[in-house]
Amino acid sequence: MKLDSQVTAVITGGASGLGAATARQLASHGVKVALFDLNEAQGEALAQELGGIFCKVDVTSEEQVDAGFAKARAALGQERILVNCAGTGNAIKTASRDKATGEIRSFPTANFDRIIQINLVGTFRCIAKSAAGMLTLTPQEDGERGVIINTASVAAQDGQMGQASYSASKAGIVGMTLPIARDLMGDGIRVNTILPGIFNTPLLQAAPDNVKAALAATVPFPKRLGEPPEYAHLAETLITNRYLNGECIRIDGAIRMAPR
Ligand code: NAD
Repeated sequence: MKLDSQVTAVITGGASGLGAATARQLASHGVKVALFDLNEAQGEALAQELGGIFCKVDVTSEEQVDAGFAKARAALGQERILVNCAGTGNAIKTASRDKATGEIRSFPTANFDRIIQINLVGTFRCIAKSAAGMLTLTPQEDGERGVIINTASVAAQDGQMGQASYSASKAGIVGMTLPIARDLMGDGIRVNTILPGIFNTPLLQAAPDNVKAALAATVPFPKRLGEPPEYAHLAETLITNRYLNGECIRIDGAIRMAPR
């Protein structure tokens, strides 16, 4: 897909981190951006800076996602690009014994389900609704109507202790990438998924320097955390290279996560 001011992109989780970097990257080519996020203050500020719009959307809400797409399309036109970055995690062991009290606990199912609802079902909800809108678009070169990018994690393949729900949600995104690309192949919509390693986003920026240094030391090469523009650069490549479809690609400096 050619990136210019004729193109609109919806970016979920677009107020922060990897989503915000992608919004900046796409806007630098003139693409009109709509940011879906819970974080109103940051989302509004970035949307204003980029000349786009902010839509307060919780991706777990059918109504809010519908309202977000309606608002974005009314303001900027039907999107040709969807980038799914909204996501979060938790760290809970499947079963554990409290060292002090000896109390035995199991992973609360509600906590497991919450991560699945945000990361996996939220991503699928946005894909299905965005793809339905893209079907109304006129195909461009090579019959292309749209491109969808999802964000999984290296935890989809090498999840660490405590990451059962996070890894399951991200592996679900990896698992649905090819069948969704196949569902949409007849309508000229490509679907790809990025599996980031450890990136320097607001999540990690709060960590002490020694913790960040220890994490960086575990990356084979380059020996540092990934920077959000590097994710955005890959997202742009997946959007602009028309032969990339149904693919899941790690961007991780060759890291393979240890058990803990
Ligand atoms: P971030 O916290 O900076 O950004 C995530 C954004 O998603 C936030 O603005 C948050 O408000 C939004 N969000 C969370 N839940 C939402 C919901 N229910 N509805 C709408 N918006 C919601 O984090 P990030 O590091 O930029 O992460 C972006 C994506 O990349 C996530 O899916 C994360 O799992 C994935 N990822 C990040 C890393 C990393 O090292 N940073 C590694 C692997 C995968």
